[in-house]
Amino acid sequence: MDYEAVIGLEVHVQARTATKMFCGCPNQSGGEPNTFVCPVCLGYPGVLPVMNREAIRTTIVAGLMCGCDIAPFSKFDRKSYFYPDMPKNYQISQYDLPLCLKGAVPIAGKGFSGTPLAARNVGLTRIHLEEDVAKSTHFGTYSVIDFNRAGVPLLEIVSEPDMHTPDEAYAYLTALKQVLEYAQVGDCDMEKGQMRCDVNVSVRPRGQARLGEKIEIKNLNSFRAAHRALEYEIVRQIEALETGEALHQETRRWNDEAGVTSLMRSKENAHDYRYFPEPDLMPVEVGAEWLDQIRATLPEAPAQRRARFVQNYGLTEYDAQVLTQEKALADYFETAARTGANAKALANWVMTELLRVLSEANLGVAQSTVSPAALAELVGLIEAGAISHRMGKDVFGEMFRSGEMPKAVVARLGLVQESDTGVIDEYVRQAIAQGAAAVAEYRAGKQKALQSLVGQVMKLSRGKANPQLVVKALQEKLG
Ligand code: ADP
Ligand code: ZN
Ligand code: MG
Repeated sequence: MDYEAVIGLEVHVQARTATKMFCGCPNQSGGEPNTFVCPVCLGYPGVLPVMNREAIRTTIVAGLMCGCDIAPFSKFDRKSYFYPDMPKNYQISQYDLPLCLKGAVPIAGKGFSGTPLAARNVGLTRIHLEEDVAKSTHFGTYSVIDFNRAGVPLLEIVSEPDMHTPDEAYAYLTALKQVLEYAQVGDCDMEKGQMRCDVNVSVRPRGQARLGEKIEIKNLNSFRAAHRALEYEIVRQIEALETGEALHQETRRWNDEAGVTSLMRSKENAHDYRYFPEPDLMPVEVGAEWLDQIRATLPEAPAQRRARFVQNYGLTEYDAQVLTQEKALADYFETAARTGANAKALANWVMTELLRVLSEANLGVAQSTVSPAALAELVGLIEAGAISHRMGKDVFGEMFRSGEMPKAVVARLGLVQESDTGVIDEYVRQAIAQGAAAVAEYRAGKQKALQSLVGQVMKLSRGKANPQLVVKALQEKLG
């Protein structure tokens, strides 16, 4: 039997705001435990929440970037449950009237396993806003709780059951994170818990219209873990069906070390959250005027920017994809390209040399000591033949170390490419005189022999001869 997997994702992202969702505590990570707290986010009795307008705005930004409909009327609800990470015994969330509805995230490129993916849209069901809960850490016989992140605005982004392979889910997570970073919705660092995802997956015989029983997987700490968990779970479910075992809706936990999922709770033990409207908050009405103002501030979406890079700068799809992965990198490239330097050459320098030295130094592109203008100048020097590509690499290394402009490095190191044909002819004459064997081979039709003569000229000129002119001169002299 041929089976099809069906996958839907629920992603939580902390919004980047100055303060928390319903109180004035800082929305900040990395503080001493339980220092960014107050009676509101500690859930003391008798306190009242005050809505954070910036969090609403940020959620609308996320919605607009994903093409959602923004609800003109939405409200908050209490999601009741009993657990120490939420001492008031309910989380303020949105139930039936979320801020954003529908929408889509375009995916393209490659999945985690490197298989190329057909470009398509993954549908969204909704994006709603809620408050984050405290972080509990469990030790052998006790647990500790940190309330610093309790009450931080949290977006929940729910996809349609619209994906069919672990690679698609991986590409979706990557694309979603990219859009949210572009729009500055949040930092989306999974290691810091700023982005979390739960995966829902079922399988069904291909061609069957009805969806299979949904299994939700929790405890996924990276996109890679989501991919692995899906691969594991799809096989497990297919094997269960093949052996005639019935699957039931349940929640499972991913164990990253063992690479397996195990049962957390079955549907019978599922929570009944007893949602009801939050009586301490007014509904949210987003007026057309505010919506227009927000729309006017939206950045270009990554997919659009990718397409524009191909169009405006003649880049390949692949290059455009690499360069737009991160907004800061795309900005870097574009600032350099706007100086008029050769865009294709710039793209190559950014993707090879710049990204390599940055990753070696463990730096982000924003911290690059080589400015876009400096890189553009370097590309210009090479294009003009003032220095060779080979020299350019050394110059680049110096630029990165010292922060100097390329012309200054070239002057300091005396790295000037020899483009005087009289001087080059003299080197070529010497190389031919010393390389009788190579000359004979070349004349006998072995094109490759020219390379050893070029190498000899480069050696004689201590790397300074302009390679294009050397080849030309050699070809002329040898007929
Ligand atoms: P719940 O009420 O349990 O949260 P939802 O219907 O809200 O369930 O769906 C939660 C997530 O599960 C969504 O991302 C949705 O796309 C996905 N999903 C729903 N049904 C299935 C299914 N049969 N197989 C796979 N994913 C599913
Ligand atoms: Zn607080
Ligand atoms: Mg749900």
